[in-house]
Amino acid sequence: MINILASMIFDVHSHIKQPETIQILQSNEAILDDSFFSAGIHPWESAQFNSKIKGLVKLAEHEHCIAIGECGLDKLTGPSLDIQQEVFEAQLLISEQLQLPVIIHCVRSFSEIVQIRKNLNPKQPWIFHGFNKTSLLDKLISEDMMISIGASILNNPSLQECLNQIPNQNLLFETDNSEIEIKAIYQKAAALKQLTLQELESIVEQNFKRTFKKWTIGSKEQNCY
Ligand SMILES: [Zn+2]
Repeated sequence: MINILASMIFDVHSHIKQPETIQILQSNEAILDDSFFSAGIHPWESAQFNSKIKGLVKLAEHEHCIAIGECGLDKLTGPSLDIQQEVFEAQLLISEQLQLPVIIHCVRSFSEIVQIRKNLNPKQPWIFHGFNKTSLLDKLISEDMMISIGASILNNPSLQECLNQIPNQNLLFETDNSEIEIKAIYQKAAALKQLTLQELESIVEQNFKRTFKKWTIGSKEQNCY
């Protein structure tokens, strides 16, 4: 069951459970409470693809699994890019088959990810997680990717400056592995955008519902909002 909250606050990618938040927890096991989660093979773990893929498909079919990921490409850590790319593309196919959006981990591999996107022409939304490289913004927007911002909004001046250039409809927030409350991230972003907290929450709520359809449909069936 989803609790009815006074106002809903969404955290699209987290490794740490926080109260009073609708979170997508990163998990490679089914979570036995009412949490929602994403399931994926991280690029660092790409070499374990064969042993993990069956479990991933099963997990992705779980009613609380609402996204694939985090998955992607990382030129600084993990096995060779060829192996990472194969594992990433396999997960993109699962995303399309199960109609689940993808939470993307990208380190110095942006042009490769854009090329894969052009080749695949996916129907599912892609969420670029941990966005902080502001030079990529125009390309991300022209590729119509969702942009998820984490705790670096609190102390990264170039990210703070570029926040207003991100269209409202592309915006999401996350805590990732930070212990900072998601609310602090929203509060900072609202101040920078000169919006009230409620206005920003309502923008993100619409984005979340549009992006994570399995959550939205599940919540309607449970009549929770
Ligand atoms: Zn993460």
